[in-house]
Amino acid sequence: MPDLTRSPFDPSSAQMQSMGQAVLDLVTRFVDDRYSAPTSDYGDLAPMLAALSAAPPDSGSDLAGLLATVRAAADKGFDPANPGFVAYIPGGGLYAAALGDFLACVLNRYTGVAQPAPALVQLEASVLRWLCDTFGLPTGSQGVLTPGGSMSTLSAVVAARVDRLGEAFSTGTLYVSDEVHHSVAKSAQIAGLPRAALRVVPTDAARRMDVEALRDMVHADRAAGAAPFLVVASAGTVGTGAVDPLADIAAVAADEDLWLHVDAAYGGFFQLTQRGRTMLQGIELADSITLDPHKGLFLPYGTGCLLARDGAALRRAHEVHADYLPPPSEDAGLPDFSSYTPELTRDFRGLRLWLPLHLHGVHAFVDALDEKLDLAREVYDALREIPSLEVPWPPDLSLVAFRPRDGSDADAQQLLDRINGTGRIWLSAAPVRGTLYLRVCILSHRTRPDRINEALDVIRAACS
Ligand SMILES: *Cc1c(COP(=O)(O)O)cnc(C)c1O
Repeated sequence: MPDLTRSPFDPSSAQMQSMGQAVLDLVTRFVDDRYSAPTSDYGDLAPMLAALSAAPPDSGSDLAGLLATVRAAADKGFDPANPGFVAYIPGGGLYAAALGDFLACVLNRYTGVAQPAPALVQLEASVLRWLCDTFGLPTGSQGVLTPGGSMSTLSAVVAARVDRLGEAFSTGTLYVSDEVHHSVAKSAQIAGLPRAALRVVPTDAARRMDVEALRDMVHADRAAGAAPFLVVASAGTVGTGAVDPLADIAAVAADEDLWLHVDAAYGGFFQLTQRGRTMLQGIELADSITLDPHKGLFLPYGTGCLLARDGAALRRAHEVHADYLPPPSEDAGLPDFSSYTPELTRDFRGLRLWLPLHLHGVHAFVDALDEKLDLAREVYDALREIPSLEVPWPPDLSLVAFRPRDGSDADAQQLLDRINGTGRIWLSAAPVRGTLYLRVCILSHRTRPDRINEALDVIRAACS
């Protein structure tokens, strides 16, 4: 007789144990292998892609075979979890976060609103409160976890638009530097702002936003009948890792009644370190901050965060209520997360932060981030010793950009290919004011002094 009381998808406990063990075997070997694995593998890709294009079968297949398929597929491409991965931008992933995700998926409690799982919502809210405190935001501030930095910035742009312009926003203008991440333009586009609304402020020699130019542009736009409402500062840019003068930009924002958003997707978590706090001074004046725990907290992809100084403003921009939902939570400690983002039903991302932070403790993250700052300094000093390289900017945080002195972009690309071809480190390149720069961006928990020393040897050899 078939058992009609239990789901056919629930294996027996013995089966769950052995299936879980098979996955654990894969995972533990995968992590151990990272240290010797090549940083990229694009070999024999076509047959694998062809083999992976099959539709799911009508009858099930064997787990061991499926895991082998996943394992082989995971090796293709470049490997952001590799200790040699210093491209923009590493994504190590923490084992403890993976355990948190596994738990969250099995528990599958509903955290879109507070009422169905108040204690789990509290657990997520406690991390968000700690983040608001870390960034010096006042009572009334509110954080929310998002799928990533782009989604955080989208919600921030919409909140700024609603808060400063209401429903008549066709003349609204927003200000970014010429080094800003493209997610801001994308957010403005999705938020329904006209293309011409985006004003690009020049950067200075250090590739930081020129604050006087910002002030002049705002005045000129206002005189021409536009409605300036938002300035986006970067705490770590894509091209050079520069941190904009946040306190000076905050002063302009205050004078001109602009919402100040700080894109700290790359650099934000250096706030946990003493040097980072000094560099990010002024971030506490922001109206909203984009953070990416899947970068600076080493968490798995899909973990973004938005902090808002005025939680109520963020809520007004997102909240729509329906009679079939529980009454809205008015408890600041137990927020309905869906009132602060476009999501209703959502990933329970909280555990992915809470478990590693509580398991390892905050100091473990501070030490790791401090080490990355030290390593970037060492890379800068060492690259400056190579006569054939131009290394223009000391690192504000953990990114060092360089290129062949007097070389063309093609020379820079060839240098990149020689370095990446070793399989021991993986760099990326990006144009800065139209000229291609290679960059070392150190932000993987696995990138330790040994690998950086080796990386420097690789770069020296590639330059000679
Ligand atoms: C990564 C990044 C983003 C985009 O974040 P996603 O998590 O990729 O959506 C935005 N700005 C900066 C500076 C970034 O580094």
